[in-house]
Amino acid sequence: MAEARLTVALTFDHDAISSEVDRGEGPVLRSRGEFGPRVGAPRILDLLRRESIPSTWFVPGHTIASFPDSVEAVLADGHEIGCHGWAHEDLSALEPDAERDVMVRSVEAVTRISGTAPRGFRAPYWALSEQTLELAGDLGIRYDSSLMADDVRLHRVRRGDVHDRARSALGTPGSLVEVPISWALDDWPHFEPGGKGVGPMSAPSKVEEIWLGELRFAWDREPGGVLTLTMHPEAIGRGHRLLMLERFIAAARSLDGVAFDRLDRIVERWTVANPEPA
Ligand SMILES: [Zn+2]
Repeated sequence: MAEARLTVALTFDHDAISSEVDRGEGPVLRSRGEFGPRVGAPRILDLLRRESIPSTWFVPGHTIASFPDSVEAVLADGHEIGCHGWAHEDLSALEPDAERDVMVRSVEAVTRISGTAPRGFRAPYWALSEQTLELAGDLGIRYDSSLMADDVRLHRVRRGDVHDRARSALGTPGSLVEVPISWALDDWPHFEPGGKGVGPMSAPSKVEEIWLGELRFAWDREPGGVLTLTMHPEAIGRGHRLLMLERFIAAARSLDGVAFDRLDRIVERWTVANPEPA
């Protein structure tokens, strides 16, 4: 398959109630998470089926253990499953042994339910410790999607950076491929308030303006790029927001040479075109 002028990757973090359990939240916030597997995910899968769009879902081990039918439905429709911690831990706050344990159990859970070793990893909360990505590589992960140094260009994660007050000495690219992300292209900070409903809750029209701006810029100015959206079934699965996602898909389809794909396939093609230096 020739590389598209722009590839759009729709990605879904299937958190369900993992982060609420990790933070010890009560019934109300747990119920917001439950909306993901119960209502949001089936609606999203229906939309993706109608549009014949393959996608990537980053799934915590807790979601696999708690809502296996929901994860099986994602797999049955041909979508990719990647790792997203066990109970949506803030990996930057864990001791090294505890972090390794979470990463190992997460890889095992995804491998067990999907029947293949996961290729991709996205850090819960996009929170990384200094060793997380090295650990991910050691566990066979081929790409990460948690960093913001670029927007539509895949690249290899550097190793050996040293950052101190005198200067930042940048290391050299390693094996792990990065699929860059940003909060602007994430539904959560736009839409979902914190506890007790306090915080921003944008109209979909605002988010649509931002996402379409990124889409049109990437298509026009960055040919060959990959635009990655991060969404959560419990957030984007609400009716007024899902209608916006439908309009976004239609807008992307109206541009020449736009393709939708799973991240593992995008990364695989990129890796063939950009082999690791010997
Ligand atoms: Zn998450």
